Amino acid sequence: MSLQRILPVLSLALIVGCSESSNVNVSSDAGQEETPISATGENAAPPIQTVGESTTADPEPTGATPVDKLPTTKEGWLARGLTEEQYYVTQEKGTERHHANEYWDNNRTGKYLCLCCGQTLFDSKTKYKSGTGWPSFFQPDSSESVAEHKDRSFFSVRTEVVCKNCGAHLGHVFDDGPQPTGLRYCMNSAALRFEEAAKSKEE
Ligand SMILES: [Zn+2]
Repeated sequence: MSLQRILPVLSLALIVGCSESSNVNVSSDAGQEETPISATGENAAPPIQTVGESTTADPEPTGATPVDKLPTTKEGWLARGLTEEQYYVTQEKGTERHHANEYWDNNRTGKYLCLCCGQTLFDSKTKYKSGTGWPSFFQPDSSESVAEHKDRSFFSVRTEVVCKNCGAHLGHVFDDGPQPTGLRYCMNSAALRFEEAAKSKEE
């Protein structure tokens, strides 16, 4: 993109430069042929583009730990604080027991983060009583929260939901949820860390 913009400018500059070089004596304050070239308005574009690239070249997600800083072995995950069940669910695509998990009945206000990396996954505003005994949401917190894969295990096709940042297994999504999305994100508490919203009096 920037090259395509610069090339015509350069070729134009060469032409201008050649014509200038024949009129060097006429030019009053432009003693060198490069001077009029750099004075053209077109040259303002490259520095602006560089600034834009430097600000957008930092795609750090919302406080989540980058994948390359996360453990790659079971020992590493357990050392990081995961329980055997949390490891089984998030790293081995396991499923915890319904009604016997931490958040299925949690009604407090706040965000649900990825237990493994801290990525923000769901907002309590989208949590609803699905009757399944697992924490259920009708939509993720943002487009950066989760990714979905076809899961062909157990002789059926389901849609697996994973953390978009670190790939941890979270649960599955079904199309029998409430409006406005009609989706049911059926999650494992063992893959989540609830962060209660700050009290309004602190604001
Ligand atoms: Zn994650």
